[in-house]
Amino acid sequence: MTTADAYHDWTLPERISRLKDLAYNLWWCWHPEARALFKEIDRTLWGETHHNPVRLLRGVPKERLDALLADAAFLSRYDAVLAAFDRYMGAEDFWCARAHPELQERAIGYFSAEFGVHHSLRIYSGGLGILAGDHCKAASDLGVPLVGVGFMYPQGYVQQRIASDGWQQNVYESVDWSVAPIRPVLGPSGGRMLLDVPLGRGTIKVAVWRVQVGRVPLYLMDTNVEGNSPQDREISGRLYGGDRATRLRQEIILGIGGVRVLRALGIHPGTFHANEGHSAFLFLELVREKIAGGKSLDEARREVSESAVFTTHTPVEAGHDVFAEEMIAEYFADYWPQLKLDREAFLDLARVPGHSGWNMTALALRLAGRRNGVSRRHGVVSREMWKSLWPDRAAEAVPISHVTNGVHLETWIQQDLGALYDRYLGTDWRSRQDDPAVWSKVAAIPDEVLWLQHNRNKSALLQMMRGRARTRWMSEKGDPAQALAGGALLDHSALTIGFARRFAGYKRATLILHDIERLKKMLFDSWRPVQLVFAGKAHPADDGGKALIQQVYRLAKDPAFGGRIAFVEDYDMHLARYLVQGVDLWLNNPLAPLEACGTSGEKAGVNGVPNFSVLDGWWEEGYNGANGWPIGEAGGRGSGPEADKADAEDIYQTLERKIIPLYYDRDEHLIPRGWTKLMKESIRSVAPKYGASRMVKDYVDALYSPRTEAAAR
Ligand SMILES: *Cc1c(COP(=O)(O)O)cnc(C)c1O
Repeated sequence: MTTADAYHDWTLPERISRLKDLAYNLWWCWHPEARALFKEIDRTLWGETHHNPVRLLRGVPKERLDALLADAAFLSRYDAVLAAFDRYMGAEDFWCARAHPELQERAIGYFSAEFGVHHSLRIYSGGLGILAGDHCKAASDLGVPLVGVGFMYPQGYVQQRIASDGWQQNVYESVDWSVAPIRPVLGPSGGRMLLDVPLGRGTIKVAVWRVQVGRVPLYLMDTNVEGNSPQDREISGRLYGGDRATRLRQEIILGIGGVRVLRALGIHPGTFHANEGHSAFLFLELVREKIAGGKSLDEARREVSESAVFTTHTPVEAGHDVFAEEMIAEYFADYWPQLKLDREAFLDLARVPGHSGWNMTALALRLAGRRNGVSRRHGVVSREMWKSLWPDRAAEAVPISHVTNGVHLETWIQQDLGALYDRYLGTDWRSRQDDPAVWSKVAAIPDEVLWLQHNRNKSALLQMMRGRARTRWMSEKGDPAQALAGGALLDHSALTIGFARRFAGYKRATLILHDIERLKKMLFDSWRPVQLVFAGKAHPADDGGKALIQQVYRLAKDPAFGGRIAFVEDYDMHLARYLVQGVDLWLNNPLAPLEACGTSGEKAGVNGVPNFSVLDGWWEEGYNGANGWPIGEAGGRGSGPEADKADAEDIYQTLERKIIPLYYDRDEHLIPRGWTKLMKESIRSVAPKYGASRMVKDYVDALYSPRTEAAAR
């Protein structure tokens, strides 16, 4: 099978052969010295391959490799990067080894339908996946023995193109196996490992890929294998594509197949973590295993409950998978007898009282002994939302806690800004990143140095947008207004507000357009202009979301807005980095309390881009009066046109009275002293608390460690 051999198909000259080890471990993507090494190999190709080192190494001309072999400076950098890589991979003195020696012998199985590690590996759609990727990176950095389980989607997730009329086009791009940083997992006989996973009355064959994220392996399942029916081969085709039955089949494979993959690999986690309800069948499979081993149902459930962690990620009703009971019965009629349950008792495992339907979140909440939401406020909202599962308890006593999401700082902090942190905070800020004392030193960064760096980041964003607009205009010879809509006329000196997230109704992307004349006054103030940069995808099936994009896009194309509103296509991790690093202000105005966390605001905050946000999700706990601005009232104003109007009024007033004046208040050197003070306060207050390091430590301390289990008992 050619795909299985892609890794072995090619070699590099002996002296630099370990570039291949680097390329196949995504460690490189959060280590600037490794990124720089790849870039140095061939700058143009590095850009053209969208920063994919496997593609780069396979495409680099032989003459270039020969030149590098003769370049002593390159070779010494190569040696240094590999030495750092080997030190990292071989280290034993990690936080987890010190703080939780009891965890060293037990893996943590981390199940997620998506993983956003790097934009060259398109197996994520948005916030949930990127959070999972950040979780894995931080677990690797901290030495937490995590093992990821998910899917390898051959068709990735939808890419976004906007047509001239503003309507989102969905483009699926197939993964080119030969240049993806993945390796096939081989079986005992040396061929590809293939597993049979029960699916309804039949079985399906599952092949497994391995992706290495520092010290954390991800095992990704793929059903596109010979021997499966054409329909079954399609199951793993697309993330969140297909109909309900496909979705159910994916989730059965993720949960039940995922456990079997780990068993086949000889990995026996002491803790299983379901990141969102998609993988909740894994808990059923663990119960089934124990019953097959002779336990009673009650014993099996108790034991599974003790080792099971479940994180719920959204208070939005539609974000929770519910399957028709007949559909479940079709797939599980042979399964419930193995749990010693009848049909009704089985279906009861996943019913919400008063509703019919198989609810994956209800299943996970019942079977997992430790459960959490993803911000303090989301914890409160989740306890209220799911209290019917604990009818004898008051909402406050519903056993769902919270761990506020955090972002992987090395991934999201702009590289040169990171070097500034090295200089002013000490080079050990990365290993002490959740220590507030480290970040208090941000005050020592001179205002003009920080301001200059921020303006470089802003230039990088604008340059990238213009480059994309130019390429598109040239390649399609289309409507020049589309180049302007893509940001070609943006002004470097104008206060630039960023709004980028999924275009779902509750995120209210168009709220700032509520009073268009009032907004125009701000955009065209000749001394203190404002401009808006939007980005975000709508779910391929969500016409409401697409209509919101169209509304924004039409304004972006409209000469009346003079190119001061831009929409950038195809929001992904790559674009997100430019945006959270390069805009001046990060806007978020969801309908409270529907934002579970809102990690993009954390990414902006740690880059010194202040937040201007509804007091929901992480901002409800992160806002401190001096690190940004709130919108509306704590807890939100409820929904409806009146609430929208009041929130929009709030946005305009705060912009007019506070934000714009502060941004444009410059001293004789044109430095906005008040603004840089705010930027520093944003970094100081956000970085230690909302990094993935703090988050993963919280998960380990409160949810993964068996010590917690012992204490709970
Ligand atoms: C961080 C991120 C998200 C999630 O951020 P929200 O604030 O929850 O919208 C979504 N998409 C991309 C590409 C991201 O980088």
